[in-house]
Amino acid sequence: LAARRVAAPTGPGKLADGTAIPLLANIGRPSDIADALLCGAEGVGLFRTEFLFLGAESAPTVAEQQEHYRTVFAAFGGKRVLVRTLDAGSDKPLAFLTTGHEDNPALGMRGLRATRAHEHILRDQLTAIAAAAAETDAEVGVMAPMVADAAETEYFVTLARSHGIPVAGVMAEVPSCALMAGQVLGIADFVSIGTNDLTQYALAADRQLGTVASYQDPWHPAVLRLIQLIGKAGTQSGRAVGVCGEAAADPLLAVVLVGLGATSLSMAPSALADVRTELRQHTLEHAKALAVRVLDASTPAEARAAARG
Ligand code: PEP
Ligand code: MG
Repeated sequence: LAARRVAAPTGPGKLADGTAIPLLANIGRPSDIADALLCGAEGVGLFRTEFLFLGAESAPTVAEQQEHYRTVFAAFGGKRVLVRTLDAGSDKPLAFLTTGHEDNPALGMRGLRATRAHEHILRDQLTAIAAAAAETDAEVGVMAPMVADAAETEYFVTLARSHGIPVAGVMAEVPSCALMAGQVLGIADFVSIGTNDLTQYALAADRQLGTVASYQDPWHPAVLRLIQLIGKAGTQSGRAVGVCGEAAADPLLAVVLVGLGATSLSMAPSALADVRTELRQHTLEHAKALAVRVLDASTPAEARAAARG
């Protein structure tokens, strides 16, 4: 019997009605670049820069960082690359940024809080990103992790622009940021939803702790309602709302996220093909109808069932 093989679609991410939903890659180490390109990523929606420096004892120099960033930007010439500033702390300790014991590191000095407390490190990183961006034709933007509200957004966006980086946004991964999304998007050029942390914080369940792993489910309607708030703020402001957490890699959830207002999706390169295939089965109208259904569910299981129809 001849095996019937259906070729996976290639090309840009789009819905059945032609609505463009750019499909981007999450990358960390330089070796991720090849995978992203091979899988047809339209750019990089999350460049986890802390991965480059996990073993470093001291802060990397501007020149050292510039070289790393140039390599990535050159590989994605003409494409969007969103660089996340160092997200140290909790699950990603960096010796030069996270010092001292904390009983609850996920609730402590991490992300923008940690780099803001060592502002010279944040300034050096922005300097290196701007310099590397000037050497290539990638469309480089920056975003800060663990941003809580409009005041922190204002701080970061102003600092990024003062370093000559015109596109500056924040990650929405703390529930307060989702609740304040209208104000945040009045300042930031875009937000990118980090569903891993957003889920951890919405359900108050440490994402590192096996005993509460069942809470770490982005299909939880509480998480989806927070995402809805961000999506609505994006639609009202006309600003981009990406998703770069694991949720974007779940094909059916990806459709729901688009229905909730996501305008681009970023994921591990290996997930791109299945998400690309699924998006092409649904119109925007249908994605919105699925979103309405899941928001009325009571549990993650009910939300999944509602989306499957
Ligand atoms: C997230 O929290 O969803 C995210 C994308 O960031 P990280 O997993 O690196 O914390
Ligand atoms: Mg995160």
